[in-house]
Amino acid sequence: MDEDKLAEIKNRINIVDLISSYVALIKGGKNYKGLCPFHNEKTPSFIVSPELQIFKCFGCQEGGDAFSFIQKIEGMDFPSSVKYLADKAGVKIEFTGRPEQKERKDVIFELNHLASEYYHYILTKHKLGVKALEYFKKKRFLTDATIKAFKLGYSPNSWRSLCGFLISKGYRIDDIAAAGLAQMSEGAKNYYDRFRGRVIFPFINNSGNVIGFSGRTLSDGEEPKYINTPETEAFHKGNVLFGLEKAKVAVRREKLAIVVEGHMDVISAHQGGFDNVVGTGGTSLTLEQLKLLKRLAGDVAFCFDTDLAGLFASGRAIELGESLNINVKVVVIPKPYKDLDECIRDNPKKLREAINDSKSVYDFYFLSAFERFSPNDPLDKKRIAETLAPVISSIRNPVLKEHYVKRLAGDLGVSEESVYSMLTSLGGGSSVTVTTLSKPLQGVSLQEYALSLLLKSPLDIASSSLYKLGQRDFTNTSLERIFVELKDHIIGRKKKFEIKYFCAKIAKVDEELSKEIQALYLKDIKESIFEDAERLKNELNLVLRRIKLETAKDELKILGGKIKEAEAKNDTAEVKRLTEEFKEISERLI
Ligand SMILES: [Zn+2]
Repeated sequence: MDEDKLAEIKNRINIVDLISSYVALIKGGKNYKGLCPFHNEKTPSFIVSPELQIFKCFGCQEGGDAFSFIQKIEGMDFPSSVKYLADKAGVKIEFTGRPEQKERKDVIFELNHLASEYYHYILTKHKLGVKALEYFKKKRFLTDATIKAFKLGYSPNSWRSLCGFLISKGYRIDDIAAAGLAQMSEGAKNYYDRFRGRVIFPFINNSGNVIGFSGRTLSDGEEPKYINTPETEAFHKGNVLFGLEKAKVAVRREKLAIVVEGHMDVISAHQGGFDNVVGTGGTSLTLEQLKLLKRLAGDVAFCFDTDLAGLFASGRAIELGESLNINVKVVVIPKPYKDLDECIRDNPKKLREAINDSKSVYDFYFLSAFERFSPNDPLDKKRIAETLAPVISSIRNPVLKEHYVKRLAGDLGVSEESVYSMLTSLGGGSSVTVTTLSKPLQGVSLQEYALSLLLKSPLDIASSSLYKLGQRDFTNTSLERIFVELKDHIIGRKKKFEIKYFCAKIAKVDEELSKEIQALYLKDIKESIFEDAERLKNELNLVLRRIKLETAKDELKILGGKIKEAEAKNDTAEVKRLTEEFKEISERLI
């Protein structure tokens, strides 16, 4: 690959913008941070540096540049990530690879793309699609614009119309089958279209590739009502959400993802101006799906009608939400509407209200339990407690848990102790784990913190603080080396300090050390410090003093040992000399 081209692509792509389309980033000082998309975490340890154009997660150690980010998040190899970013950046690149070496996944994307064009054409332009189009427009009230935006389609009710089309374009039947578009038996001799006589909903990933389809029958009573693309190299049903590529911007903006069941619900929600709606595609929610949403928003609201919501809330969502630390909410479709579609068409304002009014899954559960049973009847009281105890015991956050214990005790007019004893008898008592809050400096040593501060400080402040430290204040070799290099670079410097030049300079002699410097620069320290020069100076003073103290203490410890040795040997002169030294250092401590 041409190095200049790579540099050109990198120059044109701003890594902050790039990553922002996947992760909600917040600016803190020089860097941006957010929840790592590569591992589960509750507090952000994923840092992006616009100056260095790199990212780094201090939780799972993933890190790198724009290319590595795309490879990792889109599951691409290096050449594909280059192609992807080159397209984004508008940089033309030539690939030397021959087309027959194309990855099968790319072939699948091509086939899916062609198939979706074909289905869409049949639906919107061909006489075979008239009935299906009528279904979308008259029965589902979709506009032409919506049909186009979601690339809806129709697969003719014949055995080989799509296969014939794709083969005529030069594709091989085994690739068509690998894409899940054809079914085959007895080798390649007998094959036929998977989707026949169905309206088609394409699934599109974040890169805009069609990864699979869902087809719904138009004949009442025909089973199955829906069929989907089987698992292929491009399509993993548990990992996709219908409409996510259209909803992601709104989800990030609203900090809320609304999850509905059916594809049609997603489409009519978007048509009605509810952009942050995605669909599970009729399957029960998976952890992977929820992870996709967590990357974009902290809150996920499930929108179901009352009956379904009750069923749903009974388990999975609470469990998954708790395990990912997502605020799970429930939006109940307002009465008298029986489904989302109806409500949006008739009175979208009411749905908006219901969304604003969405309750946490726990509140929702309380509400429905108290609706079903009467808290005044002793037996019902027991039933309410039995219904809610498992819910409460699944809560991991101790503050939240206590809140609901108090509430249940209050609502039932019983003591908190009896609620707790119910939780204990469920075995939930043991799960009351007090999670330690992460301190701002957790996992960052004093020495690392000092260097990190110095690397980010303005030149004058850094150079007036640096001389206070010495090499012996560093107990870790690479930190010591970084300190020495930084001191060399900064002391007496006239031009402004720029981290990227410093890193580049070090990288020429020691790539590893340069990486460590980058990591220090990305450490997530209280960035607000840098907004106020006085505060920064103070903080540096404090930290440097603490380091000095640590060093002095270590030295005293060693000296103490030496004094004892000298005493044992009755070497009075040595004892005297060491004691003097001891005194001197002790005075530094005051
Ligand atoms: Zn991570």
